[in-house]
Amino acid sequence: RISHPGVSTAALLLTAASGGGLVAYADSAAENASEPSQEAPKKKVVVLGTGWAGTSFLKDLDCSKYEVKVISPRNYFAFTPLLPSITCGTVEARSIVEPIRRMFEKKKKDVTFYEAECFKIDASKKAVHCRSAVGTNFDGNGDFIVDYDYLVVALGATLNTFNTPGVMEHCYFLKEVEDAQKIRRNVIDCFEKASLPNISEEEKRRILHFVIIGGGPTGVEFAAELHDFLVEDLVKLYPAIQDFVKITIIQSGEHILNMFDQRIAAFAEMKFKRDGIEVNTGFRVVKVSDDLITMKSKSLGEVSVPYGMAVWSAGIGTRPVIMDFMQQIGQTNRRVLATNEWLRVHECDGIYAIGDCASITQRKIMEDISTIFEMADKDNSGTLTLKEINDVLEDICIRYPQVELYMKSMHMLDTRDLIKDAIGDSHKESMVVDIEEFKKALRHVDSQVKSVPATAQVAAQQGHYLAKCFNKMDQCKEQPEGPLRMTGLGRHNFRPFRYKHLGQFAPLGGEQAAAELPGDWVSMGHSTQWLWYSVYASKQVSWRTRMLVVSDWTRRFIFGRDSSRI
Ligand code: FAD
Repeated sequence: RISHPGVSTAALLLTAASGGGLVAYADSAAENASEPSQEAPKKKVVVLGTGWAGTSFLKDLDCSKYEVKVISPRNYFAFTPLLPSITCGTVEARSIVEPIRRMFEKKKKDVTFYEAECFKIDASKKAVHCRSAVGTNFDGNGDFIVDYDYLVVALGATLNTFNTPGVMEHCYFLKEVEDAQKIRRNVIDCFEKASLPNISEEEKRRILHFVIIGGGPTGVEFAAELHDFLVEDLVKLYPAIQDFVKITIIQSGEHILNMFDQRIAAFAEMKFKRDGIEVNTGFRVVKVSDDLITMKSKSLGEVSVPYGMAVWSAGIGTRPVIMDFMQQIGQTNRRVLATNEWLRVHECDGIYAIGDCASITQRKIMEDISTIFEMADKDNSGTLTLKEINDVLEDICIRYPQVELYMKSMHMLDTRDLIKDAIGDSHKESMVVDIEEFKKALRHVDSQVKSVPATAQVAAQQGHYLAKCFNKMDQCKEQPEGPLRMTGLGRHNFRPFRYKHLGQFAPLGGEQAAAELPGDWVSMGHSTQWLWYSVYASKQVSWRTRMLVVSDWTRRFIFGRDSSRI
């Protein structure tokens, strides 16, 4: 802010000395009033996306310091962990969404929202190209361009069908609120269809075969919800067809919930077996037609099963706009945008990426470490002993604590152990290691680093972290990101982002859940379900949604779920 508080005082002193008195003072004040205020223009921050990452950033950002523009095709935030509960009416769709404009009501003068989709990021012109999601302008054109000083890309991920034929045409998905609502309607449709007269038993069995492709948390939670809906509500309403219902999970890995502790996976499989939910592990779906799902396993070859409804929850993919941007900046052959530990997109000034569309990579550090190792190879033999490698790494970790810190924050093994493992099982200090082989080991470490989970927890923590950095950015004007560590010029202004894992839940139906909590603490059963209720109620973004969700749970306990097809 550039202002001139001294002007009127100086004028008053001057005119008092010259005998001009009050007249001169008033003139000077009038002059001041007519002078346009010379405020330094605020930096423009554009945020793409209003999901977990985008809203968490906006909530913590001191918006008065910037000119903030938010662009998203949805004018609400959706609490995705409760999407499976919408599929069967345990919770209503409107209970888990919060309008963006309401979320930022208090900051409304500093935040502008456009309900639009960004279809191109132009890093060279520092602009994003958008298309209205709600129709066109008077001139019939809904496209517009927004320029930025800082861009925060929080676009999340999209579906990934792995190009499996027929999936797009015949499967349901569970990614957005609309998807969950579609599933809810179709589940009821299947029951009504199977209740029609003149339907053979075989056809009833097919119509009421619900297949979930993907045994991750989303697929498992949906299967559990569907089973509860069936045994708690639908059997009473459709008694004649209850025996024809079947729920199947198809999972390509050896176990469902394979990102959880083994005890949880085993508990879930056992519970599902008891509940009559079929779990087919080791099968990969290769084709889906309108009534058959074809899957392949190593031992059984190709098998086809008739189905009535299929839900695909087998992985996430890259949004086209991110793919296009990655091509522009040379990050090809990647699934998500690569950022440094301060969440800035590699080689892109002023562009940050958070949430499911981004992943932190240690590319720079790894490259630099590689150079340091080559320098350690004094005799140019192309080899170092394992001891020398460890010494150098130790040195790197002391000089650049971020390397060690980062590895630890990602729940990884100690850097040196990982490298030892990757090099081979011999830990003899004098073992000679080929530098090229060592580079392979580095790539192994790098790929381990990339496997940070794509979860709401990570997205929200990244948003919070980045907002804190932005709030302090004016204190670090010289170099907003500070000198790069590896240049040896000094330290970074901010600590690197550190993910703090707070645990994860898997609701398994029948008022039972499993939880993996920090410190390798595993909890399963009915009491964990109550923990789940309290955590998910407390995590709601507003008191309004908290009340709505809790009242939906209460309504379900008292009256059951609503099975109307509306
Ligand atoms: P999103 O939340 O997906 O937000 C992306 C935003 O970008 C949206 O607002 C979208 O409208 C907007 N957008 C999309 N395209 C454009 C465009 N072209 N231009 C502008 N804006 C655009 N995680 C957990 O930690 N715990 C859970 O229990 C859990 N359960 C889940 C259950 C389900 C059914 C699903 C689908 C996910 C679940 N997740 C869970 C994962 C979690 O939802 C994601 O990791 C999280 O949403 C990622 O946040 P994000 O902000 O990166 O992306």
